[in-house]
Parts: sequence; C-alpha cells; structure tokens
Amino acid sequence: MSAPVYKRILLKLSGEALMGDDSYGINRDTIARIAGEVKSVVDMGVQVAVVIGGGNIFRGVAPGAAGMDRATADYMGMLATVMNALALQDAFRRVGVPSRVQSALNIEQVAEPYIRGKALRYLEEGTVVIFGAGTGNPFFTTDTAAALRGMEMNADIVVKATKVDGVYSADPKKDPAATRYQRLSFDEAIQKDLKVMDATAFTLCRDQNMPLAVLSIFKTGALARFVAGEDEGTLVLAQC
Ligand code: UDP
Repeated sequence: MSAPVYKRILLKLSGEALMGDDSYGINRDTIARIAGEVKSVVDMGVQVAVVIGGGNIFRGVAPGAAGMDRATADYMGMLATVMNALALQDAFRRVGVPSRVQSALNIEQVAEPYIRGKALRYLEEGTVVIFGAGTGNPFFTTDTAAALRGMEMNADIVVKATKVDGVYSADPKKDPAATRYQRLSFDEAIQKDLKVMDATAFTLCRDQNMPLAVLSIFKTGALARFVAGEDEGTLVLAQC
C-alpha cells in the first residue's frame, strides 16, 4: 500500500453500519470486519479518531420512544452511541488496536470525559480515540459531532463511512444510470441537492474548509485505498 495522503482522519461510523444484515443491534462479524478495516489504516501510520452513531440501538427502542419529549429521546440516542463506542473499543482490542473512549456526557465509570488535549495526545501516540455521546447536546446528530470533533482534532479530513460507496447522481438502488461523483465542491453538492451529511454538519465543514469524504466501510480495503489517495468514494472539497 502506498504512503497515506492523510496523517489524521476523523472517521464517522453510523450505528447502522454495526448491525450488518440484522434489523437492529450489533452484529459480531460486522463489527469485527469494521475493526479490521480501521486497523489497516492504523497500520499505515494514520491517526484515527472515530465518531460512532447510535441508530442501530435506537431503532430497537424507537417504538417505545414514539411521542416522547424530543430532548429525552435524544439523550437516549446519545447513550446508545456510548454502547456502540464500548463495543467498538472491544472489537479494536481483539484485533490489537489500542483505543480510548471519550464521552461527551459524563459517565466516568464507563468512559473518560471528552478532553480535547488528552484526545490529541492519544492520537499522537497512535491510539484510536472513539468519541461517544455525539456532541453531548440534544437536537444534534453524530454527523455534526463528526464535523465538530474533526475540527477540534485538527483532522485532515472527515470520512463518512456508510453502506454506500460514495455520493451518487441518483439513488443507485432505484436508478441503474446513477453515477458516482469522484469529487465535488461544497457548492456543487448544494446546487445539486446531494445529501452528503446532515445539513448542520455539512455547513460546518464548508464554513471551516474541512474536506469531507463518503465511502463504503463494507467494501474490503476501500478505507485504506482512499487514505492512500486512490479513487474510492467521493471527496468533497472547497474547490475541485
Ligand atoms: N444525538 C443527539 N446529539 C448528538 C448526537 C446524537 O441528540 O450530538 C442523538 C439523536 O437522538 C440521534 C441519536 O443520538 O438520533 C443517534 O445518533 P445518529 O442518529 O446521528 O446515529 P447514526 O444515524 O449515525 O447511527
């Protein structure tokens, strides 16, 4: 594998990525596979910070949460991301990747609190830092947490790892003629009304000139190829 073109990345993993083909929860083989994909870039010498979502767990409780006060439901969602962060840390341990969990909500028996300076130090040591509990505030998403932490960590790029291998001109499941964008500018993504990340996260990245990428975490080796500068996924930049 060639030398990495990014020294430090912020990887956003949606909670739903962890459920594999299951309808909710954490799929053991899937999380192991994801840990392996992350290990491949850690082995290249890339510093990796992860923001993990919670959709896989929150989906399971969603019927019970219907009609619930929004802020309460959002706190439940944030706690779900902490569960995923712990599961991910365990999966990293199994493949020999050192990692730390930092939580935006204080639950010190479970995870250390988010402290920017400490997180930066871990990254410099080659330890993966997993950020749980999103931004710590209701009414936000983990996409926004990814944009925020990406900037705080001085990451070179925010990589959104999903089930789809990039941003397409149309839904590739519905339109066989849909094509993948290799590169996009922030303005083009807005003009074409392409959904890259949620609007708050997207605006934050655009305002701060933080490059964004979308790729599939299920395509074996895609993350490592992307980090090596190869054509994988979609890259969104201020200008392209
Ligand atoms: N959430 C929140 N504030 C944050 C991040 C997340 O309130 O800063 C809550 C929100 O309810 C969200 C849930 O946590 O629906 C799970 O996060 P998200 O939907 O972003 O996870 P993903 O879809 O990536 O699995």
